[in-house]
Amino acid sequence: MTNQQEFKSKIKRVLITEAELQERIKHAGSMLSEEYQGKPLLLVSILKGAFVFLADLCREITIPCEIDFMATKSYYGGTTNCGTVNIVYELEHDISQYHVLIVEDIIDTGITLKDVVKKLKARNPLSLKVITLLDKTDARKVEFEADYTLFEIPNEYVIGYGLDSGEYYRNLPYIAVFDEKR
Ligand code: 5GP
Repeated sequence: MTNQQEFKSKIKRVLITEAELQERIKHAGSMLSEEYQGKPLLLVSILKGAFVFLADLCREITIPCEIDFMATKSYYGGTTNCGTVNIVYELEHDISQYHVLIVEDIIDTGITLKDVVKKLKARNPLSLKVITLLDKTDARKVEFEADYTLFEIPNEYVIGYGLDSGEYYRNLPYIAVFDEKR
């Protein structure tokens, strides 16, 4: 990324404002605080895209909770199996002691979460649910539905609020459509 003008020119339009994000996240936080009251809650975030959402969501949760991270690498098509996701950075917790809530940035094809959920369920958590900030339902390649979705969005490449293009734009405080042509 060479200059500020080029950086800005690729932000096509704001899709979800900072205020809209904060309002929904506040609501989600209070709903989760009720649902998990009295239960050992572990928030699991898949790096890197969900780190901003996790940071805001956990501060709207008013009950005790713990936080853990994992990172995955996906292999699509080519010579490898479509839909294979490898865990390249592991959770520290033994999740069999917890009600696990996966905190995800965006569901696109559904391949990542479908496989991650399968792998984590095999570790026998007390329960396992998924909350996603964004859902591109039109882009699904495998059947997968989150338990909680904050925003359904059209099938366009988005950036900001943790989501990147080439590692840039994660620090935008809003969600924007990325202009891939410019
Ligand atoms: P899925 O396995 O559902 O196709 O992909 C999920 C992952 O793909 C997300 O966690 C995210 O890292 C990436 N991804 C999917 N759509 C977008 C998008 O519009 N923008 C960005 N920045 N990443 C995306």
